Amino acid sequence: MTVFNHVSFDEHENVVFCHDKQSGLKAIIAVHNTNLGPAVGGCRMWNYDSDEAALTDVLRLSRGMTYKNALAGLSMGGGKAVILADPKTTDREALFLAFGRFINNLGGTYFSAEDVGVSTADIMIANRETDFVAGLEGKSGDPSPFTALGTYLGIKAAIKHQRGIDSLEGMTVSVQGVGHVGYYLCKHLHEAGVNLIVTDIHQQSLDKVEAEFGATVVAPNDIYQQDVDVYAPCALGATINDTTIPLLKATIVAGCANNQLAETRHGEMLKELGVLYAPDYVINAGGIINVSFDDDYDKAKSTAKVENIYHTLTEIFAQADAQNRTTADVADEMAKKIIDAAK
Ligand code: NAD
Repeated sequence: MTVFNHVSFDEHENVVFCHDKQSGLKAIIAVHNTNLGPAVGGCRMWNYDSDEAALTDVLRLSRGMTYKNALAGLSMGGGKAVILADPKTTDREALFLAFGRFINNLGGTYFSAEDVGVSTADIMIANRETDFVAGLEGKSGDPSPFTALGTYLGIKAAIKHQRGIDSLEGMTVSVQGVGHVGYYLCKHLHEAGVNLIVTDIHQQSLDKVEAEFGATVVAPNDIYQQDVDVYAPCALGATINDTTIPLLKATIVAGCANNQLAETRHGEMLKELGVLYAPDYVINAGGIINVSFDDDYDKAKSTAKVENIYHTLTEIFAQADAQNRTTADVADEMAKKIIDAAK
């Protein structure tokens, strides 16, 4: 397994492989860039098929955090951690205490928080060993409702740009993954008069959105070909790929999942088909924006900053059109300028 020659290695500042014999912890922490401040990004717990898959994930996710934090206007660099374990593991105390000690060893260059498979309760355990954690209960708390708000506003910005209308009333949105963020996104969309088509691999989560928001449930593999206005990926990454793009009927892809494009060229493919793509790290920045207010929490200030996602995306869409480029390319360039200027 190579690191420096890895296809997803992007001048990462620090990549730490963590192993704790007693708890069984196996984790990788990647600090991508600290030009704008200490690296901040969540910790994901997942049953990876291989160590290689975990490394790829943490390298890509940490880079995404650098770009996300820069474009969200935060004084924070980008980092991420992955724990290689079943997210349903019940014996979590020793695992997250050990994880906390590894974060502490990084001396404040990386702050961790929750992500897929990890809850704020887990981060509270890590907090017993280190102060370098964010999104704690009693401070900014669960970031998911803020991520959902930003994603909802991003969908509105995409509809406005493509169709010139402010209302989502009567539209149909497919939501892939109705977990922490997906649930709150469905709530916003339902309140805006949107018809929902949803999928998940957890029946309980599906039952909830079906009962509360009248959502239509489809099988996981059937989500792509639904006749919808917007496809919102809200589960895991790389769902925009060679297999799924030909199936899409949506003219907008806008969801909260990280790393939605399997490869950069898939952004080009969407553009060629006239599908408007809301770059993932821009539309899903609501949670990290809220976390950035941890030290002196102010919900109104945080919400106002999350609402700015609408304007950032509007600017990206306009530039992409004017310059005949992909939205992902425009977003990367805007973020890079901010990161390089802070060097
Ligand atoms: P979550 O684990 O609560 O929800 C993900 C959901 O997707 C789960 O219900 C899971 O069962 C479902 N799922 C997994 N595989 C699936 C499949 N193949 N088909 C359909 N459903 C599937 O996670 P979350 O916190 O809601 O995050 C969702 C996505 O948003 C992730 O990519 C995460 O990195 C990203 N994100 C989350 C936040 C946040 O604030 N939580 C912030 C930014 C980005």
